[in-house]
Amino acid sequence: MNDDAPLVDALGRVHTNMRISVTDRCNIRCFYCMPAENVQFKPRSEILDFEEFVRLARVVARMGVTKLRLTGGEPLVRSDLPRLVKQLREIEGIQDIALTTNGLLLAEQAAALKAAGLQRVNISLDGLQAETFRKIARRDGLDRVLAGIAEARRVGFEKVRLNAVAIRGITEGEIAPLGAFAREQGLELRFIEFMPLDADGNWDNSQVLTGETIRRELEDVFGKLVAVKRTDPSQPAVDFAFADGVGRIGFINPVSAPFCGSCNRLRVTAEGQIRNCLFSGEEWDIRQLLRSGADDHALAEMVRECVAAKKPGHGIDSDDFVPPQRPMYQIGG
Ligand code: SAM
Ligand code: SF4
Repeated sequence: MNDDAPLVDALGRVHTNMRISVTDRCNIRCFYCMPAENVQFKPRSEILDFEEFVRLARVVARMGVTKLRLTGGEPLVRSDLPRLVKQLREIEGIQDIALTTNGLLLAEQAAALKAAGLQRVNISLDGLQAETFRKIARRDGLDRVLAGIAEARRVGFEKVRLNAVAIRGITEGEIAPLGAFAREQGLELRFIEFMPLDADGNWDNSQVLTGETIRRELEDVFGKLVAVKRTDPSQPAVDFAFADGVGRIGFINPVSAPFCGSCNRLRVTAEGQIRNCLFSGEEWDIRQLLRSGADDHALAEMVRECVAAKKPGHGIDSDDFVPPQRPMYQIGG
């Protein structure tokens, strides 16, 4: 097939979005993602260098990928990230570059990232109490995250969004404070249902606080939420505006209301494995191709094969669901 034909899977889903995990390392240890101690990080030699990521991005951009998101692990622990952003920005066809970060190092890096061409930032903020942060991250750091949010607003990214993972027994007391904070700061807030991607393998359906429960709780406090019409059918969040027009709330409900039918994402892990789904049991080793002198056609064919093999859905709700072998920090969220 022609190397610039679009990346369409068997269900007709056109892939225009790639998530690049730049590292599996992190400066905290969220229980829904990493083990508490003795984390086995990949050796540096196995992690793709910037030139390898850029070459892959160039190949997928020719196949119609227009949006890139840098993630990890914690992407800001990878040194010199603005240099990668700048190189990705120069690729023909790439229209949007975003970052997902825990925010701890953002105050120091936001200006350089903005100058390099980063357009949008999602900052993870699961609550506003130091105790909640400590319980989840098993480290301190809420003040640094808040400083990161302030600096991201100051440097003027096109969009700064807050992401909160919703966990039964932890998040309830944070729903209204997070809603109020997002409204005050003029930031969009998204609640994401806890998914079975924790390294400890402790996830259980009973720990999922659904988007619907949170929406009702927010309505009790702030009044009716008004559904916002979807402009991009592939975007996973269901968005609502507050009735007074101040602020916006989104719900990503992969467990209670899967959105696999409109998924347009593919992923590359920090060590160069291509995945067609967070929950995929299969990976395609593009690092091996990148390091063996393969041409761009071979890379494009491998990406196409990966997309073609995408399953209709993740199947979390089915009885025979098997969580992926890799936890979130090794995949890239
Ligand atoms: N370290 C960065 C951060 O935390 O924002 C980027 C990587 S992190 C894996 C990406 C996103 O996935 C974060 O918003 C995080 O809260 C979310 N996440 C991690 N594990 C999750 C899980 N088991 N279920 C739902 N979301 C999860
Ligand atoms: Fe680190 Fe992000 Fe995973 Fe938390 S969710 S442990 S910040 S990679």
